[in-house]
Amino acid sequence: MPSATAKHKILLVDDDAFVLDVMRQQLTQLGVTDVVAYQQADGAVDALKADLEAFDLVFCDLQMPGMDGIQFIRELAGIQYKGALVLVSGENTRILQTAKRLAQAQDLDILGTLDKPTSIKQLSEILQAPANPREFAKSRDARISASELEHAIESGQLVNHYQPKVAFQDGALVGVEALARWQHPTAGWIFPDRFIPVAEANGLMDQLTQTVLTTALGDTRKWLTRGLDLHVAINASMQCLSDLSFADRLFDSAQHFGAPLERLIIEVTETFLLDDRVAPADILTRLRLRKVGVSIDDFGTGHSTLTKLRDIPFNELKIDRGFVHGASRDPELGSIVRASLRLAEQLGIRTVAEGVEDADDWNFLLDAGCDLAQGYFIARPMPAGQLPAWLHEWNARPANSI
Ligand code: C2E
Ligand code: CA
Ligand code: CA
Repeated sequence: MPSATAKHKILLVDDDAFVLDVMRQQLTQLGVTDVVAYQQADGAVDALKADLEAFDLVFCDLQMPGMDGIQFIRELAGIQYKGALVLVSGENTRILQTAKRLAQAQDLDILGTLDKPTSIKQLSEILQAPANPREFAKSRDARISASELEHAIESGQLVNHYQPKVAFQDGALVGVEALARWQHPTAGWIFPDRFIPVAEANGLMDQLTQTVLTTALGDTRKWLTRGLDLHVAINASMQCLSDLSFADRLFDSAQHFGAPLERLIIEVTETFLLDDRVAPADILTRLRLRKVGVSIDDFGTGHSTLTKLRDIPFNELKIDRGFVHGASRDPELGSIVRASLRLAEQLGIRTVAEGVEDADDWNFLLDAGCDLAQGYFIARPMPAGQLPAWLHEWNARPANSI
């Protein structure tokens, strides 16, 4: 049977010859015959160094004498391996998950993780999985120039998609978050993880944020005329919040579009440390005084810390998706989520769980007392025009579906 998986060129790395044999046989049964196996990771690294494109899929064991799986991951990142990686282990899932995060943090494209002994079913699922389109887009062209991005902003190639935030209690739509996307004329959709860093490094964040803001205000008006009264959140990195004119410009834009300030939320994201601690606090406090919502994004990661909570009058806390998805199955994530919710409750701050991906996440967060849900379980980010149809469908969901 010719199959879509047959085209893979696979590299297996495991110190156990028996495991390699079994996996090779399983892959053969799935129609994949282009398989090379190494019992030592350094041999595999040498093979990739000799020809980086010799393999498009690597299966790697974690527990190996000599170079172990974590060192192997580091080597793959070092030689800028662009194919996909699957981690295989007999270790506990927490180690496997941590290894996965480590690999992702080094920009490797992880197709999945496998428990030993591997089964044909598991392998077949992995081989069918489409490579993450985002990672694909990222590796396809890693470089975006500042002038290209500036042109895109000026010529309207930057569009907003919106992701719903719904109440856990009754599922009611409360608001949306605007997420920037670049509709590139030839490369297709480009996601913010690729262009936000370019904007930040080249002083384009202000221009980008203003574009996202005015588009969001315009869309909010359009929804309002259709009877949809929603909060709209935009993301502002700390870099925008170092310019004291930010607040006044925001007030002017809102007035221009006739958007009530209490419908706007600024989600504060931070990707680098800022020396100036006064300007952001000045701006955000003025926004709060005029009833604009101020949200601490990705709480618990990076610089989204208790210090920030102390210094800025946030009225919303978004628990990072890294803690939310899987919280029902992982006691440590569960504890972090519950503690964050309790903290917010004591501070009188509304809570949002981002990254609610399945019914388990939903039920756990509902039970833990979180206010709002956002994530693929509810809806993916969508163009403004699709929101009314999505809402219609959402409101028509069977009563027992969540
Ligand atoms: P964020 O503010 O944490 O936004 C949420 C991200 O999580 C979005 O990715 C969204 O598509 C994704 N997401 C939503 N639900 C789920 C889910 O259930 N599971 C998973 N795994 N992911 C989910 P996106 O749009 O690629 O944005 C990435 C980040 O880029 C944002 O993270 C935000 O920090 C930044 N960003 C996006 N638009 C803007 C913008 O206009 N200005 C600024 N300053 N940053 C932006
Ligand atoms: Ca956000
Ligand atoms: Ca977030």
